[in-house]
This record gives sequence, C-alpha cells and structure tokens, in this order.
Amino acid sequence: MDTSKLNKSYEQNGRNSVIKGLGKRVINVTSPELPPLEEFIPMLEDIWESKWLTNNGKYHGEFEDALAKYLGVPYISIFSNGTLALITALQCFKITGEVITTPYSFVASSHALHWNGIAPVFADIDPVTLNLDPQKIEAAITSRTTAIMPVHVYGNPCDVHAIQEIADTYGLKIIYDAAHAFSVDVDGHSVLNYGDVSILSFHATKVFNTIEGGAIICRDEATKKRIDYLKNFGFAGETKVIAPGINGKMNELQSAYGLLQLKRIDDAINRRKQITYLYRDLLKDVKGISFREDMKGVKHNYSYFPIFVHEMEYGESRDCLYEKLKTHNIYGRRYFYPLISQFPTYRGLPSASANNLQVAEDITKKVICLPIYPDLEIEIIEFIVSIIKREI
Ligand SMILES: *Cc1c(COP(=O)(O)O)cnc(C)c1O
Repeated sequence: MDTSKLNKSYEQNGRNSVIKGLGKRVINVTSPELPPLEEFIPMLEDIWESKWLTNNGKYHGEFEDALAKYLGVPYISIFSNGTLALITALQCFKITGEVITTPYSFVASSHALHWNGIAPVFADIDPVTLNLDPQKIEAAITSRTTAIMPVHVYGNPCDVHAIQEIADTYGLKIIYDAAHAFSVDVDGHSVLNYGDVSILSFHATKVFNTIEGGAIICRDEATKKRIDYLKNFGFAGETKVIAPGINGKMNELQSAYGLLQLKRIDDAINRRKQITYLYRDLLKDVKGISFREDMKGVKHNYSYFPIFVHEMEYGESRDCLYEKLKTHNIYGRRYFYPLISQFPTYRGLPSASANNLQVAEDITKKVICLPIYPDLEIEIIEFIVSIIKREI
C-alpha cells in the first residue's frame, strides 16, 4: 500500500483535520474495485463491432480460461450470479431430501436449497473458524440426507478433510458455497478444489467482482459439460434439450470486465491484507473486542474484517457500538445477523432451534464487520478504532 501521500497529509494536518474533512462522507463496509475505464472502452468497442453479446462468446471463453488458470482449478463455468450457480450445482447432482448446512451465512445459501425443494438442516458452527463443525454435521445426518453444503465464511476454509471423510463414509455429496473464498489457498492449493463442486460469487460487494456474477468449479469435464447445458436451458444441441435448465449465462460485457479485474486482484488482496494487519494491531489491546488471526497453512483473501463485541468486558452491547459507528457515518455490517435459521422461511424447522445452534446464536449477537476495501485510508481506519476505543 502506498501510504506516503496519506502519511504526509496526516503529519501536516493531524488526524483531526482529516476526520473533519470526512464531512458527510459515508464509509461503507465495502466499496467495489472497478477496472480502468480506458481499458474497458476498447473491449466495449470490440463487442459493439461483433454484436456478439452473450451465449458463449469470445470474452466468455477467455474469462473462463483465465479464471481457471488464476485460481488453479481444473474446470470452471461462469454464471450471471452466485445464487443461480448454487441452484444449478444442486440440480446438476440431482440433490434431494435433506442437506446439512450452516445458519451462519448469507441467506442465499439456504434459499438455493429451498428453490430446489430441499429441506435445509442446520448444524452448529465451530467457535473459532465460524464454519460448520464436522462433529455437528455427523450428528445431523439422517436417512434423507443427500449432501452437505458448507460455507467458507469470510473466506476462512472449512475443515475440508474432516468434511470429506464424513461425506465418503455416509455417501454424501459436498457442495461448497465458496462465495467468499476467491483466491484462498490451503497448503498451497486452492480451497476450491475440495468437495464435489464449489460456488463463487462475483457480486459487486465481493473481493472479486464482475458487477454481478458467479461460477461453479468442478472436478471433471463431464460435470462441466452438464453444468454448461443446465445454465443454458438444458440445450445440448440446436434442438436437443436434456433437462429443465435455467438461464444462468454470463454476458460478454461482464466477461470482458472480469478479464480486466483479474489483472488487479493480487494487488487488491495485498492492500486488504495490510489493512487487516493494521486493524489487528490497533485493536489488539481493546478490552472486550476480539478478532480472528490468520489460519495456519492458509493464504487468505482478507475479504471481511469481523470483530466480536463481548458486552460484559467491553461495557456496551454490539448494537450500541454498531449504532455509534453509524452516527459517525461508519456503516459496518452485522454479517451474519440474524442467522438464516431465524428467518420466517426456516425458523419452524426442528434444526433451527436455538438449542441446536448455541455457538451460532452466540456469535451472531457479537459480530460487526468493519469497513475494509483496498483504497480505505489509514486515517479512516484510525478514526474507526478511536470510536471503538471511545476516544471520540
Ligand atoms: C454473496 C453470497 C451468495 C450469493 O451470491 P450472488 O452472486 O449475490 O447471487 C451466496 N452465498 C454467500 C455466502 C454469499 O456471501
């Protein structure tokens, strides 16, 4: 991160003037990275010229190849969004009955099951990784269970080996919702290579965006072929429709935009890493505020910076701090609150009971994700920490 300019203005003017300069500026939990417009325009001119807008065009193919190479995965199919990718992945393997999943995620995880007529069965999370606890997965298996749908929450990898062992033992598929896990490696390999398939989201709020977008990563060519049929209405030829597919295709404009984004993603993740380390350093001695460290053997993408407010020690509730940040125009987000299991669609399920989900119920009351994005200024980070420390 080039902080020299920032630091200069900071030294000359002091923090207070920088903060005054904030004025009515709102700091959101994230702010999307866009490619340089001057690089995008020639691609748009090319698309205008060709009039090939969607349906497996040139940029679509180039973007799939470039993504597979960058991510280190064998097969990838790009989609118009992550939710359709999830829904299609479940269709691809004809998953039915019950699927074990986490309540501590974005609602789309369970909604994708619901849209397939599958009953989500919620299992509790691990208190450190905040991902599905393998022991709780095993305890939730019934004769109707066909698959596990874990989520790599905040891009922190699930216990992929333990989950694979359970799936092998009980004959279950694993559909990873890896919406947060772009460019995350475990022991030098992409986390996207575990399970039967992994789903990415390229939504504007994610680490890597194509405005809207998503992808399925799979293990073999036959599966990719089937996914590609399914994302195009089930067409396997001009007149041959092999299944009730959906329209999940990514268009040429977004594919071209995605190609440009790939050039800059490593720098963006590096800047996020520096911001994360700064937050950790500034917050390390604040009583009642905790956060997670890097995991051993993992290359993180620093997509979110969640903190946990321990009301007794901190002296104020999470919601109190959340509201106070808002009065200073700092819009953190309570990812994930409420739990998916608390929404009307799901709260009647037996597995949605608070008793079954004690860790998730505890974490959801404590979490705030603080603003993090590549060009977030150091002064703003210090300002946010000052509010948390009650210096402001
Ligand atoms: C964003 C997100 C999705 C949905 O992706 P879209 O591209 O917005 O449809 C699914 N699961 C999780 C965990 C997400 O964060």
